[in-house]
Amino acid sequence: MTRPTSVRIDLAALRNNYLYARGVHGGRALAVVKANAYGHGALASAHSLASIADGFAVAFLDEACVLREGGVRNPILVLEGCFSASELKIANELDLWVVVHQQEQVRLIEQSRTGERFNVWLKIDTGMSRAGFRHTDAAAVYQRLQSTGKVSSITLMSHFARADEPEQPMTAQQIETFDAATAMLRGDRSLCNSAGLLAWPSARRDWARPGLMLYGATTHGQDVPELQPVMTFESRVFNVRTLEPGDSLGYGATFVASERTRVGLVCAGYADGYPQTAASGTPIAVDGRASTLIGRVSMDMLTVDLTHLPDAGVGSSVELWGAQVPVAAVAKGAGRSPYELLCSVKRAPLVHENTGQGMGEVVRRTGTR
Ligand SMILES: *Cc1c(COP(=O)(O)O)cnc(C)c1O
Repeated sequence: MTRPTSVRIDLAALRNNYLYARGVHGGRALAVVKANAYGHGALASAHSLASIADGFAVAFLDEACVLREGGVRNPILVLEGCFSASELKIANELDLWVVVHQQEQVRLIEQSRTGERFNVWLKIDTGMSRAGFRHTDAAAVYQRLQSTGKVSSITLMSHFARADEPEQPMTAQQIETFDAATAMLRGDRSLCNSAGLLAWPSARRDWARPGLMLYGATTHGQDVPELQPVMTFESRVFNVRTLEPGDSLGYGATFVASERTRVGLVCAGYADGYPQTAASGTPIAVDGRASTLIGRVSMDMLTVDLTHLPDAGVGSSVELWGAQVPVAAVAKGAGRSPYELLCSVKRAPLVHENTGQGMGEVVRRTGTR
């Protein structure tokens, strides 16, 4: 018998969510598959989207290489751009699109000696003050890129700091700043991540860049019934015991029974990516019924309350997050973000399936990663 813990990835749901995102936004959409597709397996995710996606976005060159070496032919945008002349050369050979967000990257293009021209996404800082050229410098950088003679097209982009907070005026200000800075510049435009796409219709332009929503997750307060969870993190109960009043449970004795309490031991822990900070009371589903985590999460195990589920016992199925337990709810219980939880899954095997098409057909099993 193998350890009954796995991370199932529903590729049909992924395709559903991509088409939904692009439909809401209009125009075209780059599916953001950085960080191993937010923990979902970059190559399997990209292959399942390849026939419908306008392109992909990854954080850095190595992530793009994985996709190209795996046979992905769609456009791929490198969101951090290139770090050196040799990276820019490889980007050119692999026909990648590159973000340019700082002077050094303009210099690399000026000095490049490849005969090919670059598809550049010019990143403009409209208030996040992280990466990107100051909006007041956008026109000058644009001219400088044009005058290199080495760019085939320039897409104008910016990124939002607070798009998931619709009551905050910052996003509207960023849109206004972007429009003013780019009014005289030709080229496609791209502003929206998932939250921007969902909450800010006025930000929809030629290209969207959805990430989180492709995986069926949203940040707090953005419930979208059309999105289907893609990842199911699941395990089973492999032992049961009953605590008497006063008995404590697990490391730190953080949970002390105030009444007789049936506890299920589950084969998943923080080494598999379940957050150790999840507090007693964080939702967990057992045999499809609502329950909660109790006690501190260990490296390889965690404990769940079965007191109100007398039929549950050894072998009962456990959903840590998925269709019954939104990853955002677990994130809330752990004081983390759904991004962080999805990106953190490890050790438990990823199992990719096409439930929408092939009745649970396993199309790719990616070992422990
Ligand atoms: C990661 C990233 C995205 C995707 O953001 P989500 O919030 O996951 O939709 C979009 N654009 C840029 C520049 C990014 O770095």
